[in-house]
Amino acid sequence: MTKPLYLSKLQLKAELDRCLNCPSKPCMSACPVSCNPQEFIQAAKKGNFAEAVEAITRTNPMGQTCGLICPDKFCMKACTRSHIDFAIQIPKVQATILEQTRQKTPATIQVTTRRHPLAAVIGAGPAGIAAAAEWTRLGGSVTLFEAKDRIGGALNMIPKTRLPHEVIEKDWLFLKNRPYIELRLKTPIHAPENLLNQNYDAVIVATGEPLCQKLNIPGEEWCLSYMDYLSDPSAYPAKGKVAVIGGGNVAADCALTAKSLGAQHVDMFVRRRLADMKISKSECLMLIDRFVNISALTSPVSILREEKYLTLTVRKNQYIDNVLTPLTETDTPLKGFDLVIRAIGSHSSEKKICERLIYAGDCKTGGSTIVEALASGQKAAYNLFHQLFKRKSPNVRR
Ligand SMILES: Cc1cc2nc3c(=O)[nH]c(=O)nc-3n(C[C@H](O)[C@H](O)[C@H](O)COP(=O)(O)OP(=O)(O)OC[C@H]3O[C@@H](n4cnc5c(N)ncnc54)[C@H](O)[C@@H]3O)c2cc1C
Ligand code: SF4
Repeated sequence: MTKPLYLSKLQLKAELDRCLNCPSKPCMSACPVSCNPQEFIQAAKKGNFAEAVEAITRTNPMGQTCGLICPDKFCMKACTRSHIDFAIQIPKVQATILEQTRQKTPATIQVTTRRHPLAAVIGAGPAGIAAAAEWTRLGGSVTLFEAKDRIGGALNMIPKTRLPHEVIEKDWLFLKNRPYIELRLKTPIHAPENLLNQNYDAVIVATGEPLCQKLNIPGEEWCLSYMDYLSDPSAYPAKGKVAVIGGGNVAADCALTAKSLGAQHVDMFVRRRLADMKISKSECLMLIDRFVNISALTSPVSILREEKYLTLTVRKNQYIDNVLTPLTETDTPLKGFDLVIRAIGSHSSEKKICERLIYAGDCKTGGSTIVEALASGQKAAYNLFHQLFKRKSPNVRR
């Protein structure tokens, strides 16, 4: 059974009541966008939801999306209650406050207005959206170019059970200063630097990591990339046996998606130890709950197509003197897979250094989390604006 995404009224009240109103605000210090849970929790506790929403959206342009998918390693890890009993479910509290308030007050239609300085932001994922929000907060306007037909970037690959895609739209519709952002969907930009000759004062590139890491093994052509799979899982065989290569949260999403679509048997192959897997406790519990088999210290060696099915040969690894060492004599062919999916990471294309142009988000820092991509987008816009215009900005946070 899938867990509800939001807290019930009673659960919300219980979580708000547990907050200790810590003067040192460890939850805020741990948040990459410096969101202040203590402030929005105390406002909501007094029944002042409008003030709570203002506190969340002041620093986070995608507060509801973050509330559903932020990992527990930021505010929750820092929450004082985690040293007493267990941490307040801060992200869920945040998502619930926004969902409840937004249900009551629908977003208004806004007409696009232009003002200078004008920035071009390339990519409407979290980093691009945050960069656009920050640039307009500082007084400029933005053209936001997106190659695909919708906003959200890599967030669109997250299974709907964790993140319904309308939540991304909702954050966008409630974005502050949206009239100063012109969104151009289905508009890929191949030479961002050329925009500087077209009336744009600055360019922020936030194109994410569009290239999947390869396995570099024989038979790789039979293997599906996680991007192809998660972009449209229903296009691939739903039943039978699925192998997922990788041990992070993207691999976990592939395994859970395959299971939810009816795969009888899902195997995850992880190069390092179980303890090294980059997944949260709740994702780990979900994998166990859905009977996903995890083979740790196991690497793929080759993929062979035999009639309808794929044979994946795997090799065991062992730590010898702290070095991960493949044990060649352990090669084992595993037959009968309908799908083999690789989810071992991604990377971005080459970056050009150019004046008045800056990079942000996963294309700059490598694969991260939504809130780190947001923080990177904000920082890029803030730094570039000040570098170019040397204006004093309102509410300097960094
Ligand atoms: C399956 C999966 C599960 C995840 N789960 C979580 C999670 O649970 N929690 C979490 O915090 N993070 C999670 N993440 C990570 C998170 O989604 C990313 O860190 C974040 O989306 C990165 O934001 P970004 O804006 O830098 O890049 P992206 O989100 O990749 O956005 C880049 C955008 O740029 C566009 N673009 C690319 N090239 C061009 C071009 N030439 N012209 C115009 N537009 C272009 C792309 O279409 C895209 O919309 C997950 C990622 C994946 C793939
Ligand atoms: S750390 Fe936890 S208890 Fe303290 S203010 Fe933040 S949410 Fe409340």
